[in-house]
Amino acid sequence: MEGSAFMGKGIKFSDKISSLKPSATLEITSKAKAMVKAGEDVVILAAGEPDFDTPESIKNAAIEAMKRGETKYTPASGKLSLKKVIAEKLKRDNGLEYAPGQIVVSSGAKHSIYNALQVLCNPGDEVIVVPPYWLSYPAMVMLAGGKPVEVKTSASQGFKVSPEDIQKAATEKTKAIILNSPSNPAGAVYDEKELAAIAEICLAKGIVIISDEIYEKIMFDGKKHFSIASVSPEVRDATVLVNGVSKSYSMTGWRIGYIAAPPALAALVSNFQSQTTSNPCSISQAAAEYAMTDEKLENELDKNCEVYQQRRDIMLGLFSGQEKIIPFKPQGAFYMFCDISPTGMRSKEFAEKLLAEKKVAVIPGEPFGADNCVRLSFASDLETIKKGVGRILQWVEGM
Ligand code: PMP
Ligand code: GLU
Repeated sequence: MEGSAFMGKGIKFSDKISSLKPSATLEITSKAKAMVKAGEDVVILAAGEPDFDTPESIKNAAIEAMKRGETKYTPASGKLSLKKVIAEKLKRDNGLEYAPGQIVVSSGAKHSIYNALQVLCNPGDEVIVVPPYWLSYPAMVMLAGGKPVEVKTSASQGFKVSPEDIQKAATEKTKAIILNSPSNPAGAVYDEKELAAIAEICLAKGIVIISDEIYEKIMFDGKKHFSIASVSPEVRDATVLVNGVSKSYSMTGWRIGYIAAPPALAALVSNFQSQTTSNPCSISQAAAEYAMTDEKLENELDKNCEVYQQRRDIMLGLFSGQEKIIPFKPQGAFYMFCDISPTGMRSKEFAEKLLAEKKVAVIPGEPFGADNCVRLSFASDLETIKKGVGRILQWVEGM
């Protein structure tokens, strides 16, 4: 248009958002799904969500809620009845005392972490992240104006950060650390002793602990999850505990996550949410409330865990006896993080070529802060796992 707006230069977008990359996990998974839809024989080992359907009884609870007319705004931070159920869950499973006012329900755990970082960070504040980390942590820290500071780990230390390394990395600007146990992408699990030692350093240095416990219910070899907030009341009061129903109850699409936090922090998150997104979906809240109260569902979760563990063991077995791909044995969650250095490829090259040449979708380690690795998901049936790993091994053996 003659003399149009913007002087022919186009719209100038926010620098912060323009430099943001899309989430590789979501992007690759949806690309692979589109390929399958278009009739291609793609094996997807990329999924970051359970392959089990949401239990029928949870769906029915949502239908009942709609019929009761629970289709309107709720309080911005979530319904009181749901917060009470979450407080009971935290007491039952984690031995933690929280008042309902310390809980804020959001649209998924990702949203909960985003909110917490927005409320905590001032420009230039440092937030420690531990590679291999879930790829959205650094992006969300930057969106909050903070600076992600990486404290490296290695397979030989179980991909777990040591208190000494936290101590070394801490500066006057360190505001928080994001811990994730069981972790995505490595399936690393911290035990009580390790968490107590980390908590001690954090308390001494005034570092807020953001503890992402979304994979709490997916633990192997009979081990039980331990929340860092339960080390002591002092640690609880320095922690933002993050959890939700996405992974445990196969409810990724329902978008319900929550934080349990010190009262002042929870109040600010609640204010922030009331000015930005308002309440998470009222129907999903009712479904989550039901999920966390039906004891029978706990058995279903245990069974799912057994299935994941069996798949883990089979996947590990498939990789044994070769040296091109070195898997790290996960203790929780549903991912296998594999070192691909012997192939001589970086992670993006590996993932792109594998998809193009062998039609197997995996997630490159680069956005997780580990470019020598790729992430395989075992949240798919055994046939898919065997087919996918078979293709990968055939491919690397021919190199
Ligand atoms: N934390 C981790 C470690 C995750 O892998 C995910 C994946 N979705 C989330 C948080 C976010 O969960 P939600 O779907 O509830 O937003
Ligand atoms: N967290 C899952 C994953 O890592 C889901 C995708 C996402 O939210 O990034 O694959």
